Amino acid sequence: MRKRKAVLRRAVVRCAKHVYLFDEVRLAERAAGSWEGVRALLGGKGANLAEMARLKLPVPAGFVVTTEACNAFLAAGGRFPPGMWEQVLDAVARTERATGKKLGDPADPLLVSCRSGAKFSMPGMMDTVLNIGMNDAVAAGLVRLTGDERFVYDAYRRLVQMYGRVVLGVPDEPFEQVLAKHRKLHGVANDADLPAEDLRSITGEFKRVVAEHAQRPFPEEPIEQLRLATMAVFKSWNGKRAFDYRKAAGIPHDLGTAVNIVAMVFGNLGQDSGTGVATTRDVTTGANEMEGDFLINAQGEDVVAGTRTSLRIQELKRLMPRINRELRAIARALERHYREVQDIEFTIERGKLWMLQTRDAKRTAQAAIRIAVELARGKLITRAEAVKRVSPDHVDYFLHPQFDPAARRKAKDEGALIATGLNVSPGAAIGRIALDADTAERWALEEKQRVILVRPETKPDDVHGMLAAQGVVTSRGGRTSHAALVARQFGKPAVVGAMSLEIDLDARRLRTASGRVLKEGDWLSIDGTTGEVFAGEMKTVVPDVADAHLLELLRWADGIRTLGVWANADYPRDAERARRFGAEGIGLCRTEHMFFETERLPTVQAMILAQDERERAGHLARLLPMQRADFTGLFKAMAGLPVTIRLIDPPLHEFLPSHDDLQKAVVELETRIRLGDGDPATLGKELQAKRRVLDAVEALREQNPMLGLRGVRLGIHMPELVRMQVRAIFEAACGCAKSGVKVKPKIMIPLAATSSELRVERDLLEEEARAVMKEQGVRVPYQFGTMIEVPRAAIVADRIAEYAEFFSFGTNDLTQTTFGISRDDAETGFLSEYLRKGILLRNPFATLDQSGVGYLMELGVRLGRERRKGLEVGICGEHGGDPASIAFCHRIGLDYVSCSPFRVPVARLAAAHAALGEVRDLR
Ligand code: PEP
Ligand code: MG
Repeated sequence: MRKRKAVLRRAVVRCAKHVYLFDEVRLAERAAGSWEGVRALLGGKGANLAEMARLKLPVPAGFVVTTEACNAFLAAGGRFPPGMWEQVLDAVARTERATGKKLGDPADPLLVSCRSGAKFSMPGMMDTVLNIGMNDAVAAGLVRLTGDERFVYDAYRRLVQMYGRVVLGVPDEPFEQVLAKHRKLHGVANDADLPAEDLRSITGEFKRVVAEHAQRPFPEEPIEQLRLATMAVFKSWNGKRAFDYRKAAGIPHDLGTAVNIVAMVFGNLGQDSGTGVATTRDVTTGANEMEGDFLINAQGEDVVAGTRTSLRIQELKRLMPRINRELRAIARALERHYREVQDIEFTIERGKLWMLQTRDAKRTAQAAIRIAVELARGKLITRAEAVKRVSPDHVDYFLHPQFDPAARRKAKDEGALIATGLNVSPGAAIGRIALDADTAERWALEEKQRVILVRPETKPDDVHGMLAAQGVVTSRGGRTSHAALVARQFGKPAVVGAMSLEIDLDARRLRTASGRVLKEGDWLSIDGTTGEVFAGEMKTVVPDVADAHLLELLRWADGIRTLGVWANADYPRDAERARRFGAEGIGLCRTEHMFFETERLPTVQAMILAQDERERAGHLARLLPMQRADFTGLFKAMAGLPVTIRLIDPPLHEFLPSHDDLQKAVVELETRIRLGDGDPATLGKELQAKRRVLDAVEALREQNPMLGLRGVRLGIHMPELVRMQVRAIFEAACGCAKSGVKVKPKIMIPLAATSSELRVERDLLEEEARAVMKEQGVRVPYQFGTMIEVPRAAIVADRIAEYAEFFSFGTNDLTQTTFGISRDDAETGFLSEYLRKGILLRNPFATLDQSGVGYLMELGVRLGRERRKGLEVGICGEHGGDPASIAFCHRIGLDYVSCSPFRVPVARLAAAHAALGEVRDLR
């Protein structure tokens, strides 16, 4: 004690402030400049504890050591920055004054917790030590004070165990062995049922475990315990668990963690004590009802670890009505203050409620949308804020597979439903059972298998396996267990607490309540929405976007965005779906997809192989009504909205059988004829037919077909083909117009590089269009435009715009031709190595390369509009559905993005985010 005072007297007042008491939040604000700054300096937990103290909520006394101190400590190779420790000692003294207790004083001892707390929540990824301040003398004093030996030695043994694990790196097993031995001795299942004498001797045994494994004794001096625990928490910022989690969650590595040192309050002091966690609304469904779990006579870790089955928070009303009222009032106040749903931790110590934490609650996609909408309806936030709070991934959830109801019924009838647990993270997932995180990761990454991670419970060390898995099942744990929290955050379907599943990690198998045995590697289907676990592989379906809250939020987004959202759709059924999802037009119909249909392909092939123009014309005449029907369907589905139809694009050999297959067939037939194997006349005929196709394929063969006879070049080379397509479009359009359906066809010519290509093609096609309208006696509004898919087209966009009434960036090809990387080979080849090595930061085929491809787009838009005022410009490459790329398209002034129907709702939200300036950083 005398030594501490001497250190305090030497405290250097002039050095940086590293420690803030909870009632010093104003000073922190002044130092950090903003609330965001306070969160960065004190960590989320520390900042919110200080804020709760400012709101006069019941927070135990304590203080925060800053993230800056952590960074300085790590940079100095594990030395506290100058003055920090003296400030900690000063803060301890003030905490002692506030509580009237003293650290290490057997007469009335103060115990403290030492918890990590970074700017962003990283649940369970860093370390915490509770009950600091215990030693033999303090324990004896506390027994005298409380008369509760059980409680005292339970707290003491927890300190020794946590200290051993966190500070000295002693593994869990030897501690668990000691506990198991005592449980067996008394024939009890829970540690909570062990008698006081056992807990006292367990404490001694734990100390021996520590001394044996760490080669140093457990320190009896409380201040030394605090010093070493603080160092350990700082160090845990760079632990593997924390590092992996940050990588997966996109949290920067240079933020550091704060350390919260808080006077302990105890939930395990009898039946009038307890502890719990809750969210101010239901974070699974979003319903406006408090959700959570609590335990009577327990410490916080018991709830989170899920080792004791907790009570639903609704039970609190019956068991502790006064506390229940107080807690609900605090929850409402916190929600109003933060304008956001909160995730709170509380402890009741002998009938007094203490708040230990509040933070913005993590939630499922479904809940995120409902909560944002309802907070806006309740005027707690604006509609724009509600739109901002929902991420594209949240919307995407609604477009993900769920189990097919019929398949689910069938599976149930057949007895495949093997267990039910808590539905903690929605969605359907299918995979092979993997019984540990490493196996799950290996099977998923190396063997490209889908896996479901199945564990008794998960720990932070299991996160890599959870990330690699399609979904997670645990046999223990509750809604707030580690498995549930992590799965929800990463959108992994999860079922926890499936208690009837007996997991045998040694025999690598599961046994169900009915005695059925499933081996590791067997298929499992899990439903995180209902909590059901099925044996086998079940069929999935994609849900419709009919959620009322989602629809409302998307309507708000539509009111904010300026960018149009169109869809890429080839068939009427896609177009109908796209419209239901909110598409305002079709930005790309790839007409060649219609040619690939089984019943059409023979006619297409015959057309390509035709000996002369007359024969070709005959085949084209057969294709015409098919195409006309396709387009009629599209026009009807879009009912007057723009429909952009792209003329045939791929090289013709793509419609013919593969060269290698044909060559093999020819050699086989020749051999059979030589060996007399079969009727020579039939074989001869077959050989002749195959040779004819092979000759045609060889004639059309190119070294670089992607850079060959495709797009506008093909149209110029084989004008009768595109003329047929234009005839089909206009016959369909005129037919629709006559029957009262509004039409707005936009004919799009692909892959043009020069204005002369466009001039030639457009003259030819417009002549056909006029001819059809004349024949039909109707005029329909139409436009001819082009895709910008090669750099030259962007560079001479002003000249191109002379003949094009609209542009659409085909960024799949534009990325390919700008980078000179084959889009078909890239992702399986060196591109993945580039991404791994950081040579490219992101896949340019997924997210627009703004500085290269984007530069060309910007140039194209400017030049095009210089030549043709108000030129309509869109994008129809895959990037049209990528939120970061959508933000870029908004910035360079495109009129619309066009993406797959399933991405339309995501694009509507992303376009609103772009308009609100909510653009993700793309350094
Ligand atoms: C493109 O190149 O971006 C495009 C939309 O066309 P396709 O993918 O059909 O080549
Ligand atoms: Mg293309």
